[in-house]
Amino acid sequence: MTDAPKTTFADLGLSPDILKSIEQKGFKHPSPIQAGVIPLLLTGNKDIIGQAQTGTGKTAAFALPLLERLDASEKTTQAIILAPTRELAIQVAKEIGSFGVKNSPTVTVVYGGNPMRKEIDALRKSPQIVVGTPGRMQHHIRNKKLRLDKIRYFVLDEADEMLNFGFREEIEEILKMTPPKRRVLLFSATMPRSIMSIVNNYMGDHDLVKVAAKEMTNTNITQKYYCVKNKDKFETLCRIMEDEEHFYAIVFCRTKSDTSHVATQLSAKHLRAEAIHGDVDQHEREKILNRFKAGKTNILVATDVAARGIDVSALNFVINYTLPENYEIYTHRIGRTGRAGNKGTAITFVNGSEVGRLRYFEKNLKVQMQKGTLPSPAEIIKKKKLHLVERIEHIVNNENITALRSMAKELLEEGTAEEIIASLLKDAYAKDFEINEYQVIHEDKSRSGGGAYNGRNRGRGWGRHNSSGFRHRKGGGGFGGRRGGGRPPKGGRTRPNKV
Ligand code: ADP
Ligand code: MG
Repeated sequence: MTDAPKTTFADLGLSPDILKSIEQKGFKHPSPIQAGVIPLLLTGNKDIIGQAQTGTGKTAAFALPLLERLDASEKTTQAIILAPTRELAIQVAKEIGSFGVKNSPTVTVVYGGNPMRKEIDALRKSPQIVVGTPGRMQHHIRNKKLRLDKIRYFVLDEADEMLNFGFREEIEEILKMTPPKRRVLLFSATMPRSIMSIVNNYMGDHDLVKVAAKEMTNTNITQKYYCVKNKDKFETLCRIMEDEEHFYAIVFCRTKSDTSHVATQLSAKHLRAEAIHGDVDQHEREKILNRFKAGKTNILVATDVAARGIDVSALNFVINYTLPENYEIYTHRIGRTGRAGNKGTAITFVNGSEVGRLRYFEKNLKVQMQKGTLPSPAEIIKKKKLHLVERIEHIVNNENITALRSMAKELLEEGTAEEIIASLLKDAYAKDFEINEYQVIHEDKSRSGGGAYNGRNRGRGWGRHNSSGFRHRKGGGGFGGRRGGGRPPKGGRTRPNKV
């Protein structure tokens, strides 16, 4: 990944109105297929083959130029888009509609199973763009409800799937009826040989825009995600830390106030965290970084800008507390771990409406992130008990306890050794071992507000998930436990922080 200046949608030659709706939709940068296809479609005249993995934004790659180039004042159908399934056809129509500005070309969708009457009424208005499945499209053409004589663009979306579904004949029949000067735009994730006969028979001189999926080179980084509501993120973070013996991490947040808030909450739980952001002055910044590098603090809560250039090779975790704006930033962030041959884990928190964007990152980066499962409170408590036993063994073997021996003798007159130890443990750690201290954290299954990213193939596996709910401890409680990986990164066994 380079730091070279990125292409913007404006660089591609799109008009200010469309740029505004792209921005409103939340797209920050064009995906590679968009950067390749959009200028060709806006200016050139050749046919185009666009090949890129599923989920890389092929729809917008042809939709945005169509919105620019079609004549909305002319009431004729100027573009047809074939999609293999009704869901995809609806999705494409929706995506096009979502970029619509005032006086944009109109779009209608036709597919098997949709009320015929409704479609015919819509077609009578001569929408500039018609999206549909091949069979239903063919039906309307045969019945002269859809006229092809003014077609300027013929889009075959998901061409490989269309052929898999056996739509070759329909496609060819429709293609033959379009005017010879139309541009054929073929989009596909793969280019099986079967597509080539369509290319050879129906496409003229064409440009090929092929986006090879990038390989994530660093296989030392395990990438995981948790889908939780924003309000549960902090508890989720705590749970993850509690499960780790050793937690040395940068926690990335979007805003300065988020970093301060998270760092403060962590500190309130006696975890050694500090925030770093753009408002921290240089002198203070150096001090914070030095403490972090020395392992005196083990959690740095940072904004992207503030974390720039931080190179600490022993970090074993990067937490994306908020989803980064784009996958380049994601890559930069997670690259802070898994350095110098060490293993690292990158964990991303998303809420239900952000899952689609995460999928978009995955597709563009060619990675599959594992869905994380939080340990149950019972598992964590078991671990905490084990740690405590280890720590006590360590104290018994290594600490000088002479000064307290006489007190211990006196205490032993109060009850059996077992009773006394249990009472001390209860007094000190009861809350740490109390299952009811944990809140239930549910997976966020809401997809509200995610319109921009929701789509086919998104949310893979979510439906199957049994969200029995993971619990998390409420508040702090107890003292001196090893909560949150209180153990510093280096230097062997060290005592956790005192409260
Ligand atoms: P494909 O057709 O390549 O499978 P889609 O066009 O369906 O991919 O896009 C996948 C998802 O990515 C959609 O939710 C879409 O809104 C989103 N998307 C497309 N382009 C961008 C972009 N430049 N930035 C962010 N999200 C994008
Ligand atoms: Mg598509």
